[in-house]
Amino acid sequence: MDILDKIKLGGGKFMKKKKDMFEADLIKLTQSFQEACSDKEFKDFVYGLNIKEDILMKYTSSLQDAFLECKNCAKCKGLSTCKNKIKGYKYTPIDEGNIINFSYDECPKEKKVRELNSYKDNLELYELPKDIKEACFKDVYKDDKARLPIIKYFKEFMDNYNNEEKPRGIYLTGSFGSGKTYLIAALFNEMAKKGVKSVLIYYPEFLRSLKASFQTDFNERFEYIKRIPLLLLDDIGAENCSNWSRDEILGPILQYRMENHLPTFFTSNLTLSELEKSLSITSSGVDKVKARRIIERIKQLTVPLELISKNRRD
Ligand code: ADP
Ligand code: MG
Repeated sequence: MDILDKIKLGGGKFMKKKKDMFEADLIKLTQSFQEACSDKEFKDFVYGLNIKEDILMKYTSSLQDAFLECKNCAKCKGLSTCKNKIKGYKYTPIDEGNIINFSYDECPKEKKVRELNSYKDNLELYELPKDIKEACFKDVYKDDKARLPIIKYFKEFMDNYNNEEKPRGIYLTGSFGSGKTYLIAALFNEMAKKGVKSVLIYYPEFLRSLKASFQTDFNERFEYIKRIPLLLLDDIGAENCSNWSRDEILGPILQYRMENHLPTFFTSNLTLSELEKSLSITSSGVDKVKARRIIERIKQLTVPLELISKNRRD
């Protein structure tokens, strides 16, 4: 007897054992499938897939998962209450002939919301509350006359944005909580819908985190901010001004944006002359010339407007 026959003989015993095991497994699979099918809804669901029974049987547990998710979807009351394992997706069987594959299909509602909101990717926030992304023109308080000149300017801005020389941004000063940040965010959102990218920065916090990024991605961030098509420096004047922040950060950002006609917006509780005073005093002393230079750049970059209105924060 050669070695091959020996293997075949041994293999024969092995095959018989395997066959017994296979039959036992098959009985188990059949039982659990039949048990699951005692639920009529499940039965209708699986037979409705038009897949052969002997294939279906191998996937009882996954089919039960898919069935549950399908039931959840039938009772859908919106994405926020989605009960599926992965919110906004449905575990779905796919007939692949001799096997069933399962995939997570995106819910059409989720897809629609995502598509509707995709323009928001054009708008980036640094250290500002997320809800500012929802700011839109239709929600701007129109009963408040103080907002009308700003809205008028926004309209001009949008009409002229594609001209060779881009319109200027706004230096928007005014009382705390009057809605300055909200208004500029509403404009940037409208521009985002037209595909224009923007960044809104809470300036005091941005300076702190930029300083902390020296060892990491400082340059990338600095260059990105310099070049972004629309920029808002929010709450300028509320930062702790230093020679570094004024002369190495703010100065070069404004200079670059001025030279490249990149619209730049500011909000501040300070008027331009108050800001000038604030920028002239640092821990290293008083430097009126350097502060003046920054103010000159801001004046070149913006139209000054004011929003004195009631505090909307309460
Ligand atoms: P400011 O920047 O002038 O201090 P904000 O823009 O932060 O003021 O506005 C103050 C609060 O009022 C914020 O919570 C903002 O979301 C809200 N707010 C301002 N204008 C509107 C508006 N038109 N619709 C809804 N909420 C608004
Ligand atoms: Mg603000």
